[in-house]
Amino acid sequence: MVVGIGGGKMLDIAKVVAFYAELPLCVCPTAASMDGPCSAISVLYHEDGSFDRYLMLEKNPDLVVVDTNVVAAAPLRMTVAGMGDALATYFEARSCAAAHGTNEHGGAPGHLALVAARACYDTLIECGVAAKRDLKKGRTSPAVERLIECNILLSGVGFESGGLALAHAIANGLTILPECKAMHGEAVAFGLVVQLRLERAPELDQVLEFCQRVGLPTTLAELGLGEISDTDLRDVANAVFRNERNMANEQAKVTKQKLVQLMCEA
Ligand SMILES: [Zn+2]
Repeated sequence: MVVGIGGGKMLDIAKVVAFYAELPLCVCPTAASMDGPCSAISVLYHEDGSFDRYLMLEKNPDLVVVDTNVVAAAPLRMTVAGMGDALATYFEARSCAAAHGTNEHGGAPGHLALVAARACYDTLIECGVAAKRDLKKGRTSPAVERLIECNILLSGVGFESGGLALAHAIANGLTILPECKAMHGEAVAFGLVVQLRLERAPELDQVLEFCQRVGLPTTLAELGLGEISDTDLRDVANAVFRNERNMANEQAKVTKQKLVQLMCEA
């Protein structure tokens, strides 16, 4: 058996090793910084850190072990980034369903996935701020327990079976910029704001307020990209559109030009 203990990159490596070695896999995330641990997907990046592709495994991990005390002791920024990843899950799954798109395994997003994704969003709105406050004080609580379950399990089921859309395409696109130091979930939060603006979604204000309260970036400046050139923005837009399946799951139509405009407005 392969046992992966660590953050997102370590777990992605453990998944690849188990896949090619054809061994059972146990993953133990030490942070709730993204929603990959439960999924049958390993995200591959180029050596320069830019997004390469998703490697689809034959099955989900055989065992996922999460110790609340370990995850709660991770740097707070990592858990907040996990909230960003989980925040987008419902809206991407909703978009995928509306666009008659496909989930991460090529099927239609089922009702269970949409329910899990919705529960994910509701949990964040109910518990996210309280959980951050408790973690800051170095203590666990029911809010922290629910947040960890949300970031790792609900969001994992929600994205894998519900499908990804524009928010993740943008997060992946931003990885071409070496100067972008955002964690995955932080870039997803920014991508979500752009997606909701494009869709003219009624939840936009609630999402913006949530991001502000927990400290997730919603603008290029907050991502540390306030000085980004027009050329780099166009390159990012091109990279976003290379995420073809995610883009096909986006219910609102968008051009590269419109995307650049929305990213600057966000
Ligand atoms: Zn993600």
